[in-house]
Amino acid sequence: MEFYRCENPECGYVAEEEPDVCPRCGGAFFHTLDEEELTAGDWVSLGGQAVDDGRDTDALACYQRAAAMGDPLGTTNLGWCFESGVGVREDPRQAAILYAQAASREYLPALTNLGYCYACGIGVERDAVRALECFRKAAGRGHPRGQFLLAEALRRGEGTAADEGEAFRWYRSAAWLGYPPAQTELGRCLEFGVGTESDLRQAAMWYRAAAEQGHAPGQCCLGFCCESGRGVEQSWEEAVRWYRAAASQGYPRAQCNLAWCYENGRGVKQSAEQAAELYRRAAEQGYARGELSMGLCCEQGRGVPVDLEQAAVWYRAAAEHGDEDGACCLGYLYENGEGVEQSWEEAVRWYTQAAESGSARAQCNLAWCCEHGKGTEPDLKAALEWYRKAADQGDPRGLFCVARAYDYGFGVEQDSAEAVRWYIRSADAGFPPAQCDLGVCYERGEGVRQDYAAAAKLYRRAAEGGNAPGQCNLGYLYEIGRGVEQDWAEAARWYGAAALQGLARAQCNLAWCYEYGKGVEQSPRRAVYWYRKAAEQKDLRGMFSLGACYKRGEGVSQDWEQAVYWYTQAADGGYAAAQCNLGVCYERGEGVGKDCARAAELYRAAAEQGDPVGQCNLGYLYELGEGVSQSWETAVYWYRKAVEREHPRAQYHLAWCYEHGKGVRRDRQQAMELYESAARQDYQDAAERAAHLRQSRGLSGFWDGLLSGWRHT
Ligand SMILES: [Zn+2]
Repeated sequence: MEFYRCENPECGYVAEEEPDVCPRCGGAFFHTLDEEELTAGDWVSLGGQAVDDGRDTDALACYQRAAAMGDPLGTTNLGWCFESGVGVREDPRQAAILYAQAASREYLPALTNLGYCYACGIGVERDAVRALECFRKAAGRGHPRGQFLLAEALRRGEGTAADEGEAFRWYRSAAWLGYPPAQTELGRCLEFGVGTESDLRQAAMWYRAAAEQGHAPGQCCLGFCCESGRGVEQSWEEAVRWYRAAASQGYPRAQCNLAWCYENGRGVKQSAEQAAELYRRAAEQGYARGELSMGLCCEQGRGVPVDLEQAAVWYRAAAEHGDEDGACCLGYLYENGEGVEQSWEEAVRWYTQAAESGSARAQCNLAWCCEHGKGTEPDLKAALEWYRKAADQGDPRGLFCVARAYDYGFGVEQDSAEAVRWYIRSADAGFPPAQCDLGVCYERGEGVRQDYAAAAKLYRRAAEGGNAPGQCNLGYLYEIGRGVEQDWAEAARWYGAAALQGLARAQCNLAWCYEYGKGVEQSPRRAVYWYRKAAEQKDLRGMFSLGACYKRGEGVSQDWEQAVYWYTQAADGGYAAAQCNLGVCYERGEGVGKDCARAAELYRAAAEQGDPVGQCNLGYLYELGEGVSQSWETAVYWYRKAVEREHPRAQYHLAWCYEHGKGVRRDRQQAMELYESAARQDYQDAAERAAHLRQSRGLSGFWDGLLSGWRHT
């Protein structure tokens, strides 16, 4: 077999086929030579070419030739073939033997490789002390990789006591010798002040040295310096440039950082697809942050189609690689049965793993499960403990939940003042539900001095943060003009914002504004629309009001059946006004068959809740003896209850009872006063009745006076 050697005496490049131009020196002339004329160095060079061309078997053969000639570099490279399985089956023992052979001839790279075998247990028993010996010897003789590995061992305290200062000095030595991994690590020492004073400018300089030699971790670190303006001028474009360089080498941290830039359009045109592609590449290398991000992409359909099952797969992988956010997200999928079969137990299992690793979100989710007994026994104390752990990290939801526990006495003694202190911390951390509930404390004066203006201010913060109850409460303060100037338009505006978010209470309030044209143009149809929205959420007031609209045919075609249907729904939920109105339907046979006994039942239910209409209507049924046995005394009993609440119809009826002595001792004075009260509320002919009694007062007053005088003597 013939070979070709470059004629340039300072080059001497050898090739198996005659090249047009020497790839080493650019010379154009070659002379042939026989195999026997090749030196060990030539074989090593040929082996290197074979490795570059991917001809593994040829590479092995070349290194074997060089090794056979006793060449330490050839022997070392042959060891590398055995270590890495290039052209031969992987054989770490053989590799270690070859390294040891070359090392015994003082060949420093082999000595370093042998040390590495001892450090990692490759083909030999792991032995940190012997590894350190090898590194120290190679380092002392100026071998950069030996110095670097010595520094690593010193920093971690492997085979010796940890010594960050000495580690720093060896990193620096290898860095000055131009060894890129050492340059990067030296940069890290300088960035974070490990074994030396922190110096960001120097750190960035060393990252740059490594980066410019193509070292991916160095490129990534430099990219982050550019991103954050640490030690260099901030520049998203530069950051992207370095991340891209490292990412193209398959470095997962850089792939994720670059993906983030694509996601947020920093230094590069925003592209969810590009971001997802980069996250996927990092994820496929088993890089936890890439797996978590891919899970998020799949769950939210960012740059990839929504695929909850795939999201669960990525979250699980991230969780198994120790990522607590991945575990928390997986727990959430189990909680909601998305992409996996719903299971509270599994949710709790993953939340627990994440919570114990310190994820505040998982701590809150786990606490919630403990609070509500989902997937675990209900345990308010345990719930509070987890909320507190999240709160200790300054987590706004954790702070809020601790506040709530004090507010309602969940798992701890009720303490409004303590609740306020926690609400304040959560509110200051910008958590809208806490801003709203703290507003409620101020509005009611619970745990803090009552202060409507402060309440309004807090509701506004919550409202502007998109919190529906806050919006509704602010609307109400505008409606009643407390803490703010009364303003129907503002009230309706905030009710509208909360109504759109589906808050039933706000939907009813807004509907009422439309019904009566307060702050908005009157519109019965819109009123019906919003009452119906609330009714569909089983909101009692919404169902009742919708029934009332059907009854009156306002904003909707009159329909007794629908009216009865919605009244029944609300009445069954215990809404007193609905019980009364439904009672009227039964009493009169409107939309249902007439049934006074049922009417009486409904009135009684309302009456016992203290509803004056129900009390008065029930009293009237007793007066008539319809659906109940006639009883003036019972009628009077219920009228009197309703009168305590200034109900005009009850005042009128009770007055009549006093006037005629039905169920009560006749008392014209009482009768007159009650007629007058009813008259002040413009009730029917109460004024005439009062006037009539006043006219006949002379005589009846005489008799009354006489009778009472007589009784008392
Ligand atoms: Zn040449």
